[in-house]
Amino acid sequence: MDKLSPQQRHKNMAAIRSKDTKPEMVVRRFLWSHGFRYRLNHPRLPGKPDIVLRKYRACIFVNGCFWHGHNTHEGESGLESSDCCKIPKSNTDFWVKKIKRNIQRDDDVKRKLSDMGWYSITIWECQLKPKMREQTLNSLSYTLNYIYFGHQNAPDYTIEEEESMLVAEDLSDGYGMGE
Ligand SMILES: [Zn+2]
Repeated sequence: MDKLSPQQRHKNMAAIRSKDTKPEMVVRRFLWSHGFRYRLNHPRLPGKPDIVLRKYRACIFVNGCFWHGHNTHEGESGLESSDCCKIPKSNTDFWVKKIKRNIQRDDDVKRKLSDMGWYSITIWECQLKPKMREQTLNSLSYTLNYIYFGHQNAPDYTIEEEESMLVAEDLSDGYGMGE
């Protein structure tokens, strides 16, 4: 009946876990229940952002503190540990290289997105722990609204310009994503 070997099943489970990790689900549930609509892992944007809110021109990355080197900084050993990213004592060089590469890639992705006119919002796993969660999510929703109204209230638009811009936005689904 069950054609998967335990190893295969384990692999499948691991793949699913890495895609729908719990911290990301916390963010998605919050966004959805507060009326923010999004899509996942947008294939045409740099870095395939976890969550993309086109209306806000914002990408949200939910980062694991270890893999993405939260609060680490460069030091004598290459990378100094932080409270939420402890570099393992064995195989240190390997981990330092790996985590540094991830940090570099995150920076590159954000720069590319910003060049394309997208906002990047990074949420760290530690910010979604029960004690911090409410504050983090409230500030996320504040940030998104701030971005949105920032566009709406840009000072030099006349009303006519605003209207024609809205029409233009409705028509162009590509929204500057290289179409
Ligand atoms: Zn952290």
